[in-house]
This record gives sequence, structure tokens and C-alpha cells, in this order.
Amino acid sequence: MKTYRHELLFHLPTRRGFVNITSQVQETIDKSRVREGLCLVNAMHISASVFINDHEGGLFEDWEKWLEKLAPEKPHDQYRHNDTGEDNADAHLKRTIMGREVVVAITEGKLDFGPWEQIFYGEFDGMRRKRVLVKIIGE
Ligand code: ZN
Repeated sequence: MKTYRHELLFHLPTRRGFVNITSQVQETIDKSRVREGLCLVNAMHISASVFINDHEGGLFEDWEKWLEKLAPEKPHDQYRHNDTGEDNADAHLKRTIMGREVVVAITEGKLDFGPWEQIFYGEFDGMRRKRVLVKIIGE
């Protein structure tokens, strides 16, 4: 069995944003030369997510609005976590809702998706360097 590890790097210029990382994950699979196996993709930070959904423009706005309704960024003093001097309690909550990781099957060297599935990086406390781990196992 082969294993392959790679980190994707992000530095979004905004506090929040969504990036389709499907092609970067596929390129990592290509480099691994794994044809049959599993691919784990996880955010390495507790204020960012990796999730699977549809690449449809309206959804980018819908996710942002929905998450702001559930865990509004402001006022910062509504959260106990921010008593520590941080201002990112909302980012921790948004990350919890959107999830830490995805696992996708690799079949014949390709991500074995359902019809509209794409992999996204969700940033909730950006403007700094962040990492996403891609770990591939298989043959
Ligand atoms: Zn924090």
C-alpha cells in the first residue's frame, strides 16, 4: 500500500471566504500515483472547514448569510471565548457546523464523486496563513 502526504496553503485576503479546492486535491492524487484508495482532506485549523457541496454561485452567498445568522461575528462581546482577548468565537462555531474534513474514494486515479460534488475550503478567520492536509492511501 502507498501513502502520500501533502499540505495545501491558503492566505485569504478577507476574514471569510470559500475556495473550490477540487483541482488541487486531484493534482495531489495525480502526484501520489494512487489509482485505487482513499483521500482524506482536512483543515488543520479550528477556524476553517473542508466540506463537499455544489459549485453554484448563489450558494456561496447562502452559506455566508446562513452562517452569519447562526453565529454572527459581531458584537464580539456576545461570546465567552472572546473574553480571552480573541475575536474569533464565531469562526470556531462556523467551523463546527461546516465540518473539519472529507474523505473521498479514489477510483481509476480520479476522485469518485456524485454528480455535483466538489470540495471546498471554508475560511472563517482569514488574513493569515492556513493549511489543509491531504493524506492519500491506496495502491
Ligand atoms: Zn479562538
